[in-house]
Amino acid sequence: VAKAQGRSGTVVFKPAMRTQVEHRAKMLSNARGAITGQRIEPYYQPKVWLGSGRLAGFEALLRWRNPQGQMEAPVTIQAAFDDRRLATGMGRQVLAAVINDMREWLEAGLEFGHVAVNASSAELQSSHFAEQILESLRSVGVPTRCLELEVTEAVPLGQNADGIAQALRTLSSEGVRIALDDFGTGYASLLHLKQHPVDVLKIEQSFVCNLPSSSEDAAILSAVLDLGRNLGLTTVAEGIETAEQAEYLRAAGCDQGQGYFLGRPAPRGAMADLITAWQPYLPRCLDQRSAQH
Ligand code: C2E
Ligand code: MG
Ligand code: MG
Ligand code: MG
Repeated sequence: VAKAQGRSGTVVFKPAMRTQVEHRAKMLSNARGAITGQRIEPYYQPKVWLGSGRLAGFEALLRWRNPQGQMEAPVTIQAAFDDRRLATGMGRQVLAAVINDMREWLEAGLEFGHVAVNASSAELQSSHFAEQILESLRSVGVPTRCLELEVTEAVPLGQNADGIAQALRTLSSEGVRIALDDFGTGYASLLHLKQHPVDVLKIEQSFVCNLPSSSEDAAILSAVLDLGRNLGLTTVAEGIETAEQAEYLRAAGCDQGQGYFLGRPAPRGAMADLITAWQPYLPRCLDQRSAQH
């Protein structure tokens, strides 16, 4: 490619390109190391019913321990999500840890609601994805209603979409809820809603961060909330950082919220205390959707 772009056949390889290539290679090698070293783990961020202030559940967010021992967020290994094997490897470790944590919390009588796990398109396209999740849950006795799967609009609709649609239908029919993540950022969002058994709409944080002052974002939010209501979906706003935003979203009729204002992602070691702290706000019955409102 560099050669074809060069004048008179010379190879033009700008320093910036080398930096990019090296950066990508470093990300992939970091991800590989984290997977083989079992240094990938979920952090958990609370999701809250905005009307009642009760805990709805948590979202599991991937963190990995770098060779220096610090925890890092997905952005530092972003390129690994485009690599089928690495994306699948990371996803497996997160899911296994989440299912194991949920089993421990259930055994300890900690009522956590549900855990939402992000799934990459590579995972969704891997064979027996749905069956493996269902089998993992069954084998440790965690009910399917405890798991939610977050799918982004980046998941392809055309090629391989049949396999993905089938996997989502299988999970959904067994009681795993499906959330459409980062809603409003992709070109095919409405088609996704038609094609997949979606239960939850997560509104991308870039539509939230300028509320309430941005009239454009307020109009977009109101349209998305209408859409969610008309389709009977649970709406969730991401990236709530202020009390003002939480109150605005609640008044606008958004069902759930998530963001630093409501709680930062926390490691598993902090979870028993965190879940206990939320307990007074949580209804006794986990499985009745209506009881959670
Ligand atoms: P996402 O699923 O949309 O997750 C929300 C992101 O917003 C998280 O970033 C979270 O830490 C961050 N966040 C939460 N509250 C706030 C807030 O109040 N303000 C701001 N500015 N940010 C907030 P994180 O953890 O860095 O994850 C980034 C993305 O990486 C996620 O976006 C998701 O697409 C992906 N990801 C995370 N964990 C996994 C995973 O286990 N598997 C896969 N396939 N993707 C994952
Ligand atoms: Mg998500
Ligand atoms: Mg999101
Ligand atoms: Mg997001």
